[in-house]
Amino acid sequence: MLKIKNLKASVEGKMILNGINLEVKPGEVHAIMGPNGSGKSTLASVLAGREDYQIEGGEVEYIGKDLLDLSPEERAREGVFLAFQYPVEIPGVSTTNFLKAALNQVREHHGKPTLDAVSFLKLMKEKMALVEIDQALLSRSLNEGFSGGEKKRNEIFQMAMLEPKLAILDETDSGLDIDALRIVANGVNKLKTRDNATILITHYQRLLDYIVPDFVHVLYKGRIIKSGDKSLALQLEEKGYDWIKEEADIVS
Ligand code: ADP
Ligand code: MG
Ligand code: MG
Repeated sequence: MLKIKNLKASVEGKMILNGINLEVKPGEVHAIMGPNGSGKSTLASVLAGREDYQIEGGEVEYIGKDLLDLSPEERAREGVFLAFQYPVEIPGVSTTNFLKAALNQVREHHGKPTLDAVSFLKLMKEKMALVEIDQALLSRSLNEGFSGGEKKRNEIFQMAMLEPKLAILDETDSGLDIDALRIVANGVNKLKTRDNATILITHYQRLLDYIVPDFVHVLYKGRIIKSGDKSLALQLEEKGYDWIKEEADIVS
């Protein structure tokens, strides 16, 4: 599904990603961990196509296409979903209206008929029950005045509605309370299928108590310096990052 080869990227002339290699197959959950400032959010932003990031080399193949060639909107239409650390507030636009437009754009793009009001409502009800979200939250302006937990719920609901092929979730380094952790975890687990994949960027081993990743990668100084299974996350919890940093610094 996703093949990242030697990806390098800079911000304002400063190299941040120094050769990322990562392969994600359908059905897999990959956790990306790593110390603060190692480039985790930059990787998410580059995959989303945000403009402040300059690609300095490498390739990203997504479902057989050159991802770096696609605009952020095209990436979304092709099933890439990004949930950001600090989702934007959009006053005056409710989640319902936003999602109806987004969903119908995707459907049109894939040659499917757009959903009428009745079918859309039916789908909404189904997904609302799945991720346990309240109707009231969906009528409010997108993210305006949402608590941390409400934003997470909303993000996961958007994911449920849009059914992305590749979801990239960038979790905050702090302030994710136990409720928010559970919302994210339940959502990811319930929405997992054999055909979609998740890249979960997190600082928290705790989140991985609820979501069992197939692979765990450690990002440091813009490179993946170690990959393993879920036991790597437990090792990190116990020993911190210093031991791998030392290994990586000796090699480089
Ligand atoms: P992480 O998410 O792993 O904590 P980031 O990707 O946010 O790391 O940041 C990696 C490095 O890139 C940091 O040194 C950060 O200051 C820098 N950086 C990220 N985005 C920008 C930006 N828009 N402008 C300048 N520097 C940035
Ligand atoms: Mg950070
Ligand atoms: Mg970050």
